Amino acid sequence: MVSRTFLKNTIVLIVVKQKFAVDLDETLAHTNILWADHHIKYYGNPEKLNANEIVRKYSFVKNVPYWQFAEASKWVESHINSSDAKLEIPVIKQAKENIQYIPIACYLTNRPFSTIQGTKEWLSLHNFPKRPVLSANKGLEWKAQQLERFYPYISGIIDDNVEITNYLSEQYEGKIILYSNQENMATHLDVVVCPTWNDIAIEVQRLIRE
Ligand SMILES: [Mg+2]
Repeated sequence: MVSRTFLKNTIVLIVVKQKFAVDLDETLAHTNILWADHHIKYYGNPEKLNANEIVRKYSFVKNVPYWQFAEASKWVESHINSSDAKLEIPVIKQAKENIQYIPIACYLTNRPFSTIQGTKEWLSLHNFPKRPVLSANKGLEWKAQQLERFYPYISGIIDDNVEITNYLSEQYEGKIILYSNQENMATHLDVVVCPTWNDIAIEVQRLIRE
């Protein structure tokens, strides 16, 4: 049976004319910076890097070699599953400054559905436009399925994770705006790499004028 929420979200998506799905963690939210700060404080770090430097070097806290133990991953897991904890996550300032230039269809995230209330409150706290939040801890395959399912009502995604491209079919015609320093992408998909949120805003405005 199709849920009322699904129908409501679908109707909103159809009404919005210009429309990108926007990822949350590491696209709008500095989630790994928060986690790195916590781990530095409680577990230390032999390299003496600050949270920004650690994220720049390893991308994700889960990749940091000296934080590979059960207590650290258990803490991250409980943070992921906490709705209230979402409110602690710092916003990516440049995203907040540039979001007004982005026509948003929805927020698309792999956060657990049970934490959606915290995510909605966080978006509102930082004055992000009110849009449907599609949230499920079901991995990039699920995310890619939503993009394919709602194309062209969602014309593409803004996301930091290049891996999303591995889950989209060759037939997918949407735009993938990759918030990343990634280079030399070999893909059949329509990918634009934007290292900063200013670049994203310029690219989106260019697409709108096309
Ligand atoms: Mg992300």
